[in-house]
Amino acid sequence: MGRIATLFLYSAMAANAQHVIVFGIDGLSVDGVNRAHAPRLHQMMQDSAWTLEARGVMPTLSSPNWSSMIDGAGPEQHGITSNGYLKPMAELEPVCRDEAGIFPTVFEVLRHERPAADIAIFHDWPGFANLVEKSAPDVLRHEHGAPRTVEAALRYWREKHPELMFLQLDNVDHAGHASGWSSREYLREVENDDALLGQVLDMLQETPVGESTFLLVTSDHGGKGRNHGKNSLEEILIPWILHGPDVAAGRLVAAVYTFDTAATIAWILGVAPHQCWIGRPVMAAFQPAGITARSGSGQGSCAGTVIATPAAGAFGAPLAAHSGDRRN
Ligand SMILES: [Zn+2]
Repeated sequence: MGRIATLFLYSAMAANAQHVIVFGIDGLSVDGVNRAHAPRLHQMMQDSAWTLEARGVMPTLSSPNWSSMIDGAGPEQHGITSNGYLKPMAELEPVCRDEAGIFPTVFEVLRHERPAADIAIFHDWPGFANLVEKSAPDVLRHEHGAPRTVEAALRYWREKHPELMFLQLDNVDHAGHASGWSSREYLREVENDDALLGQVLDMLQETPVGESTFLLVTSDHGGKGRNHGKNSLEEILIPWILHGPDVAAGRLVAAVYTFDTAATIAWILGVAPHQCWIGRPVMAAFQPAGITARSGSGQGSCAGTVIATPAAGAFGAPLAAHSGDRRN
């Protein structure tokens, strides 16, 4: 298929998609995805375009990485280099400022292009609110704890069916700091979030709207020992798992960066990316050729399968495949 025809097809596909939910788990590492008993997530991966080698940005702290995810750009552009929201977070002047005075998020881009769109954010970590234009979402609500965050989000979604709903859960990161990444306590919190993810998946089964809803599971950073913020693959590699209509199920060959998330959300919802963004939609998620393994063929299944992780040191195969990827 020619490039123009391909783009036309994807534009038509995007126009049919109305809803995106981001299920963001703070501090969820690749090892956490691989080692936790997470049946709902692992089952979801069977029908998703996924990679466990997506990359966050440096420093591997929460604010720079959540910002990059929702800003479609890295710290070099948005300027957020630390978590210190009680002191100036932006060491660098942002490349662009919107009317709210911050680098434009995907929430603001959607609000600008679709004033009537329903946009909701439910966050467990209070600091997340500092990264968002207060006027962009219809709801920007902090809840205490992952269960209450998800409960509030589900209630809202059932009532409003928002075009874009973003969840940020903090319990996995807490366990990592308290007990260590990949500790028993850490994995237990991943499993708790797996059950909460199951509630979202069940909700999407309740209504036809669920069939036109994309669900992205991802994280801001991983961790090493009891911390993150330094430069290691254990800290910078993140899962990126996209489920939804027309998604080509299997493991993504293409490189995926956390700032591609905003661009992918914009593309799914049919709005133009902001000109200051550097992220690109992960088109490979919608192209069978962008996938290395269809689900059921072994690599597409995470349960009991060795997946390239820092611990496994198994980067040869996925990286070697990059020369043939289809991302654009
Ligand atoms: Zn974090």
